[in-house]
Amino acid sequence: EEQLTKLATHHKLTQLPNRTLFQELLQQSCLNAPRTNKHPTVIFIELTNFKQINEMYGHQYGEQLIIEVASRLNDVIIEKDILAHFNNDEFCLLAELSNPKRGGAKIAQRLLNALEQPFNVNNSPFKVDASVGVTFYPDDANNADELIRKAMIAMLDVKTAQKHHYRFYEQHMNDEVTLQLEREQRLLNAINNNYFEFYYQPIADVQTQSIVAAEALIRWQEPDGTLIPPDAFIPLAEQCGIIDQIDRIAIDSVLQQKAKWQKDGVAIEVLSLNLSAKMFSQPRELLTLLQAKLSQYRTTAHGINIEITEGMLLSNLQEAIDTMHSLKALGFSLSLDDFGTGYSSLSYLKLFPIDTLKIDRSFINGIHESQIDESIVRAIITLAKTLSLKVVAEGVENNRHLEILRQTHCDYFQGYYTSKPLPVSAFEAHLMVNSS
Ligand code: C2E
Ligand code: CA
Ligand code: CA
Repeated sequence: EEQLTKLATHHKLTQLPNRTLFQELLQQSCLNAPRTNKHPTVIFIELTNFKQINEMYGHQYGEQLIIEVASRLNDVIIEKDILAHFNNDEFCLLAELSNPKRGGAKIAQRLLNALEQPFNVNNSPFKVDASVGVTFYPDDANNADELIRKAMIAMLDVKTAQKHHYRFYEQHMNDEVTLQLEREQRLLNAINNNYFEFYYQPIADVQTQSIVAAEALIRWQEPDGTLIPPDAFIPLAEQCGIIDQIDRIAIDSVLQQKAKWQKDGVAIEVLSLNLSAKMFSQPRELLTLLQAKLSQYRTTAHGINIEITEGMLLSNLQEAIDTMHSLKALGFSLSLDDFGTGYSSLSYLKLFPIDTLKIDRSFINGIHESQIDESIVRAIITLAKTLSLKVVAEGVENNRHLEILRQTHCDYFQGYYTSKPLPVSAFEAHLMVNSS
């Protein structure tokens, strides 16, 4: 029976009290507080980079690391404080303090210091980072649940702003979290109901100005008609790990559109779509999805271009190159988007089986005024030519931009000068005018 009680109240990996027991002890401590004149103080600790261990070395090493973290934390606390192990990489400490501001700060710093030395994981040193949030009774809350919840909120606040730090809870953090949760909820709802529409922006030949391709750009259209641009929700989707669902919607929509235009005889050679880093780093899912959608819409990869950014390629170079080759083998073409803004690892460029470079619009912006920008654009174009790549200039807004691109023998351009991204019907109309 003793064994069973222990199982229900302790974490099986570390043998530390679990959340249930911790909550009970904390609640008791709150009830006693008026008598003891001490402030129950909650210190919530989460490792920020624990996922990496599991991804890099596997579960077994992750568990080993957690056991060592628990032991280090245990070594620096005094006996009457209670250290609990909630989930995976979450720990929580209860201390009864007369001066919680000073004492809480001290303990939080001591816990962070305890993790300072790198751990040994599979014979390599691994530096663990943690985020720590602190609350105390009765200032932040008068019950256990709220004290823990708010300590977690303070921890999350650290996580987004700083590495390896602690913070005391403040009311405004709660408002921000609530707001963030509401935004997430709205985005999830938009995904579930597919409130998205794709606008198409023409890409034209620099010499002839005829439209040869179009980039699909996502818009979030609320039922009340509000149109939300991607910059307002893509970062959020990335943050909460649902960006691949947006990619799925993009792939479905663009392949369907391609099949439709093909059937209707709309003359557009290439449709370009943007992928996120997350989707690109799951090649098996990506390739399966693409193949499924190609067969669903009875079309081919020929004439579909996939835009990726440099940042997506460098974290796992070999895998990224393999993925690019697989996409090429299926018949897709590839563009390197926003070129010049990323790591500009020119030496990598020849390793990538890409077809096109898209020069970021920040360079095009100033080419008519800045000799430096013009030189950069010239250099990129020369480089691309030696690597047999085509070049698209983004953000072409006026005739002076276009004139310089003509002189520098840029292949294609995209920008407000020809057209903003347009809804499908407007795009079709634009195409008719352009071709006549
Ligand atoms: P991007 O891929 O670099 O797309 C080009 C952006 O530049 C578009 O913004 C386009 O409207 C804008 N643009 C085009 N010509 C001009 C110009 O002449 N002047 C100026 N100032 N801007 C111009 P948009 O549509 O707001 O998209 C912003 C970003 O959101 C995209 O940048 C892309 O990174 C992301 N995005 C858009 N659609 C998708 C999507 O379906 N999936 C993913 N993962 N990301 C997307
Ligand atoms: Ca793009
Ligand atoms: Ca771009």
